Amino acid sequence: MAMDDRSFAEYREKAFSFLWDEVAPLEEEIERTERIPRDVLWPKFRDTGQLGLLVPEEYGGMDLSEAQYLEFEKEWSKVHGGIRVLLHVHNGGADVLKFVSEEQQKTFFPRIARGESSMPLGLTEPEGGTGRDIKARARREGDHFILNGTKHLITNADFADVFCVVCWTEMADGRYEISNLLVERDRKGFTIRDMKPCMGCKGAYHGRLLFDDCAVPVGNILGEEGKGLEPTVYALNVSRVRIAANALGTMERCLDLAVEYAGKRLTFGKPIAERQAVQRYLSEMALDIYALQCALSDTARKIDRGENILMEANLCKLLAIETERRVTDNGLLVFGGIGYTGEYPIDRLYRDARLNWLEEGTPTIHMMVAARGLLAGQRTYRPFHQENIETSLDLARKEG
Ligand SMILES: Cc1cc2nc3c(=O)[nH]c(=O)nc-3n(C[C@H](O)[C@H](O)[C@H](O)COP(=O)(O)OP(=O)(O)OC[C@H]3O[C@@H](n4cnc5c(N)ncnc54)[C@H](O)[C@@H]3O)c2cc1C
Repeated sequence: MAMDDRSFAEYREKAFSFLWDEVAPLEEEIERTERIPRDVLWPKFRDTGQLGLLVPEEYGGMDLSEAQYLEFEKEWSKVHGGIRVLLHVHNGGADVLKFVSEEQQKTFFPRIARGESSMPLGLTEPEGGTGRDIKARARREGDHFILNGTKHLITNADFADVFCVVCWTEMADGRYEISNLLVERDRKGFTIRDMKPCMGCKGAYHGRLLFDDCAVPVGNILGEEGKGLEPTVYALNVSRVRIAANALGTMERCLDLAVEYAGKRLTFGKPIAERQAVQRYLSEMALDIYALQCALSDTARKIDRGENILMEANLCKLLAIETERRVTDNGLLVFGGIGYTGEYPIDRLYRDARLNWLEEGTPTIHMMVAARGLLAGQRTYRPFHQENIETSLDLARKEG
């Protein structure tokens, strides 16, 4: 059961105060060192409930509704992109656990909420596409799988103790199907390699996972064997909505900074906020923000009602990157040249934003999925009539 509105408002107030009072001041240090002081922050995130926001209450989590959780995703982005990535991936570990046995839930949910376990999804590969194009493969040998393959760009791989590796597994009848296989970081045959730092969201870590004849017990399958795609697609869909919320946080912070700056920066004796050209930048930013806010609250409501949000998730992410592109561009223009330096957070927000294009799929993929949904009859609204179009050929035939 999600928290009631009043308890949530009180909880949010405390948690966000912690973010702005204790995490936001670390921005400069994280940008400079490209390192998040996780040892210091992790216990504080745990104590403010932010490691188990999606974990059910009975397992020690905050059990937030999606609408409530999106507010956290938004606020993390405002505070710092690297912090957002760290917490987004950690909390997202709870998504796949919705599909597993009660026994596995009892093991992992409490550990995630307490921050003792972190379980990133290992999906992306350097040698194949996602979904059925993945190449990682595990053959069966007695009561073990022997896993071979490579994953890359895997977030939180510097400290995660277990990885939910999406791979082909050999079924008892010899066929291969996609499963989610839990691989502990200290397993023989499993190596984690550093990757180069990213252009934004500094301090977040992404690693390369190499599996070389890595023996994993058959009992490490998460959920049902051979049915790994359904939880993965669910996790990707909700995560796409959360990326849109991250974009919204970035955009709202850009607008607040731009309004503040425009009121103070004087040219020819007047604040630039009095110039119509600058006012246009600001109002366009507000317009984009409002459009995304509306799309997100509609989608969050549908998720909380248990509706299928395949279309909405992909459309939200597409709308998010389109609007975020304009808002970060306009924000930068309001600041002029100084915005391109590290003097104001606008430069950090601009760089952090670019990750949203790529996470959980590229725009091309979202368009493909949305188009497939449309052609299969899905809509974001309920139509009350059926279109019946005749082609020119049909019309010509009719006319004889
Ligand atoms: C900072 C960061 C963190 C990440 N964290 C994780 C993580 O924790 N776990 C994880 O599994 N992944 C993670 N990823 C990977 C991310 O999800 C992928 O990078 C993203 O989904 C795009 O896949 P790709 O990199 O394989 O792109 P590619 O598939 O190589 O795409 C390259 C280009 O080709 C196009 N393309 C590819 N296939 C098709 C097609 N069939 N039709 C038309 N066009 C196509 C794409 O649209 C794109 O323009 C992370 C990525 C980043 C940058």
